[in-house]
Amino acid sequence: MIHIETFTFNPFSENTYVVSDETKECVIIDPGCHNYEERKELKEYIESEGLKVVHLLNTHAHIDHVLGNEFVKRTYGVKLHLHKNDLPLLENASSRADYYGFPNYEGSTVDVFLEEGDTVTFGTSSFEILFVPGHAPGHVAFLNREQKICLSGDVLFRGSIGRTDFPLCSFPDLEKSIRTKLYQLSDDTVVYPGHGPTTTIGFEKKHNSFIKAI
Ligand SMILES: [Zn+2]
Ligand SMILES: [Zn+2]
Repeated sequence: MIHIETFTFNPFSENTYVVSDETKECVIIDPGCHNYEERKELKEYIESEGLKVVHLLNTHAHIDHVLGNEFVKRTYGVKLHLHKNDLPLLENASSRADYYGFPNYEGSTVDVFLEEGDTVTFGTSSFEILFVPGHAPGHVAFLNREQKICLSGDVLFRGSIGRTDFPLCSFPDLEKSIRTKLYQLSDDTVVYPGHGPTTTIGFEKKHNSFIKAI
């Protein structure tokens, strides 16, 4: 049984997820923790639950999602997983950190490239990788079909969608990703987005005014 713990970090109110199962193995998705207090909060949760971190996963490499990457790699000795099309964003993260005023940003290197259809395993659980570009060129989502859980990063939010006015974004790609990947999931699939509250595929197909279900 998968358990998802949500932390909201940094001035962008980014959701960092720790996903564990009954074996106590866990993955950390998009660690946005930047300051001392945020990192302490993450570390204390993992310690108090007795979790073993086995993978570091990024949905995409915008600065608010990668601020704690190197901290997690260093602390838990885990490998960073990212889609290769987001390498330009990761390589540019240091200048974005300067621009947005995050001092002492530590860059990270990718260890494993994620691709559509790959499987990431922890404990007795796994995530299927969905390639969902548009908000970022190498954006992926993490799907567990058994429990109907999808960690969607900045693709789909409750009543909204990811921005496409940044460099390397594409609205047509985002629309296609949502229609051909996310809206194909069962209506009761729970979506855990990169910002804001959870939603469901059924709710968004019915109420999302940006991408309407056809
Ligand atoms: Zn983003
Ligand atoms: Zn974001």
